[in-house]
Amino acid sequence: MKCKDKIESIIDSCEELYKYLHQNPELSFQEKETSNLLKQKLGILGFEIVDNLGGYGFAGILKNGDGPIILYRTDMDALPIAEKTDLPYSSNKTAILDGKETRVMHACGHDIHMATLIGTAEILLDLKKSWKGTLIVLAQPAEEKGGAQVLLKNNLFSHIPVPDIALALHVSSTLEAGKVGYCPGPAYASVGTLDITVVGQGGHGAYPHQCIDPIVLTSKIILALQTIVSREISPMDPAVITVGSIHAGTKHNIIPESVKLKLTLRTYSDEVMNQIINSIKRICKGEAISSGLKPIDFPVVDEVDERLPVLYNNLLLTESIAETLKKEMGNENIVQIQADTGAEDFSRYSKTKDNIPICMLKTGTVSADQIKDSVEKNFNIPSLHSSYFAPVPKLSLETGIEAMSLALIGLFNKQIESS
Ligand SMILES: [Zn+2]
Ligand SMILES: [Zn+2]
Repeated sequence: MKCKDKIESIIDSCEELYKYLHQNPELSFQEKETSNLLKQKLGILGFEIVDNLGGYGFAGILKNGDGPIILYRTDMDALPIAEKTDLPYSSNKTAILDGKETRVMHACGHDIHMATLIGTAEILLDLKKSWKGTLIVLAQPAEEKGGAQVLLKNNLFSHIPVPDIALALHVSSTLEAGKVGYCPGPAYASVGTLDITVVGQGGHGAYPHQCIDPIVLTSKIILALQTIVSREISPMDPAVITVGSIHAGTKHNIIPESVKLKLTLRTYSDEVMNQIINSIKRICKGEAISSGLKPIDFPVVDEVDERLPVLYNNLLLTESIAETLKKEMGNENIVQIQADTGAEDFSRYSKTKDNIPICMLKTGTVSADQIKDSVEKNFNIPSLHSSYFAPVPKLSLETGIEAMSLALIGLFNKQIESS
């Protein structure tokens, strides 16, 4: 097959690029060298570069006659994680985060995303005669820290044309390498981020009766929060409340003045998100009253960071891509997957005034042997954001490049037929 043959000829250089990126990860909003390398690669291929879109974000534009405008986004950032894979190309890089030196790792597969995008750009260029339109590749900074919002607030679509469609790909740590996952409709959750400050009355640890202990109060609050999803939210609405951070105190024998909590919330609707936040506020207030605190000292619940919307894969677009991929890559390799409670800021591109239809596909990264082993020996395959996350490079890249190339060419041609 034409596309597959072409991929064969570029896969080694894509794998090399992937390994280089993996060994040279950069944290969110620090992706300077990564961005320069991608710019250079796309510049050589003849893409027109539109730079300074926000952070180290840039776009590459390939005009190929009259036709639809399709945007294909990759992210570029890595995570503050110390890699433990022992791979010959594992990362030893460090970076400064909040004033401290920290190890850095591509533990969310954004290195696979970038190498796949460069490979796909080469294929599209090579097969230029078989499609018409404008391809915009978008290199987004800081997916892990809301980089999409930075680009959009910087008026992304006044710097590049508004696309008719936007596509993206994310690795999956549960799907077998060689397979592509698609999920029409809601695919990733909405995220709410809360800071809670619980104030008490501190004092000597030997005289608790002269204090209002904010640690005990916080413990009651955390346990009470567990009943929101189980007792207040409809079982038909997926929701998660996780207290990811709790900080208080300095010494064994001091009852502190306050406790600080950090929470992440996941839902599939704004209504449920609002309901959860109201319940959290009610519980905090109720527990504070029962501890004897006055209204002036009630816990402060702050929604921080802008809420991330649900990632909604446009139904017609996603079904149409799945159909194309099934035809070319085989039904057994294109699998419908379930929505999950993870999140992706690619969702933001569909929420602008232009209502751009979006679709994010997933590409498998786990070897068949590893899946078999994990079942037989009962162990968990390392997930995304794990220091042991290790995608199978070649097959993951080949599959991603083939899927994205076929999806793009299919969509460019489909639009031509229907216009
Ligand atoms: Zn991630
Ligand atoms: Zn990611």
